[in-house]
Amino acid sequence: MPVPTPASAALFERARQVTPGGVNSPVRAFNAVGGTPRFITRASGPYLYDVDGQEYVDLICSWGPMILGHAHPEVVAAVSGAVARGTSYGTPTPAEVDLATALVERAPVEQVRLVSSGTEATMSAIRLARGFTGRDLVVKFAGCYHGHVDSLLASAGSGLATFAVPGTPGVPADFTAHTLVLPYNDRDAVAAAFAEHGDRIACLITEAAPGNMGMVAPEPGFNRFLSETCAAHGALFVSDEVMTGFRTHAHGRWGLDGELEGWRPDLLTFGKVMGGGFPAAAFGGRADVMAALAPTGSVYQAGTLSGNPVAATAGLTTLRLATDEVYAHLHRAGEAIRAGVGEALSAAGVPHLVQTDGTMFSVFFTEADGVDAVRDFAGASAQRTDRFAAFFHSMLEQGVHLPPSAFEVWFLSAAHDDAAVDRVLTALPAAARAAAA
Ligand code: PLP
Repeated sequence: MPVPTPASAALFERARQVTPGGVNSPVRAFNAVGGTPRFITRASGPYLYDVDGQEYVDLICSWGPMILGHAHPEVVAAVSGAVARGTSYGTPTPAEVDLATALVERAPVEQVRLVSSGTEATMSAIRLARGFTGRDLVVKFAGCYHGHVDSLLASAGSGLATFAVPGTPGVPADFTAHTLVLPYNDRDAVAAAFAEHGDRIACLITEAAPGNMGMVAPEPGFNRFLSETCAAHGALFVSDEVMTGFRTHAHGRWGLDGELEGWRPDLLTFGKVMGGGFPAAAFGGRADVMAALAPTGSVYQAGTLSGNPVAATAGLTTLRLATDEVYAHLHRAGEAIRAGVGEALSAAGVPHLVQTDGTMFSVFFTEADGVDAVRDFAGASAQRTDRFAAFFHSMLEQGVHLPPSAFEVWFLSAAHDDAAVDRVLTALPAAARAAAA
């Protein structure tokens, strides 16, 4: 029996009058799974509470940021203190220096510039790479999402080393004419693109480990190969850690194997966890590259709310509380849920793959026969999304809120204790049977 959600339905109706599709970011509209999005009024620890009074175990975690869980008392106290001291000054503040220092201490960056969203971070990193190298071309991978930057909303052109076409109306073909889109984990495609265009490529941007086509790990040595290929051609290697940064590992995705494999990006982008649920993001990297940025250099970049003291306080407090124990907990809770999903889907006879990278994971409702791993966007797309939709709604009705798309990572937090994990495990068998039907 579907749980009645009259208050959410009424709000969705009102929202559609005043906002396209009733949402402020498309995936929230439930288009991929059907039905009515739940309107949330409150969140605490691992739980969301909607306007109809339902409680959900939250596996969205705001699409990554809430690594400590919702309304963590120390974050709330720090943020409340910051709010009381004034919310934005438009002058330098101590909090932004502390946050920048925390990023430099944790990630392989010498300097950072704070911005307000992941999109702004990748957009600015690309402008900086172009300004620094004096080149125009950008290489990206199909299935990697870097925010809604015009030149990165691009689909592959007709051949591997040909230029991209706009992935959405509203982006002029001239903009994506400077973008090359390649299949992920494909060294030959990267080598061919650099062989043909290497001296015109400003940068290659990749998710450090793609989490936006479901979780697809870089094959061993792939990031090192990208880093070396860029260096050999005088291009910058830009690692987008907006999703993975300080979630996959305390030092970001780079912390998993960067030192081990011997690769280091020239520029990195961050967001999500480093904002602690507030609009804060950053890009950073080599000091000589960052020096090209205004006001030291001539590449322009700015922001009214950049380094906002409330957002910086939330981010800094979150990073301080994200101790080794938090990452160990994410591993343990993730392992329990991954095992439960695998067991439930297998028992129901639903073909699937559970893929993990660091503390991040996702479930592919894959159909491809004999495939033991999804390694690129073509593989990720070979999914029974209808099965995911049935699975999703069964979980939702049992009080577990998954991301409403088959192509998303399931996010956990330090607050997902045994009780929350048990509720997920208990819901899985019925959801798996719904997916099989
Ligand atoms: N880069 C990656 C890897 C992301 O996952 C996202 C958002 O999901 C972005 C960039 C864009 O960040 P924002 O939504 O804060 O603009």
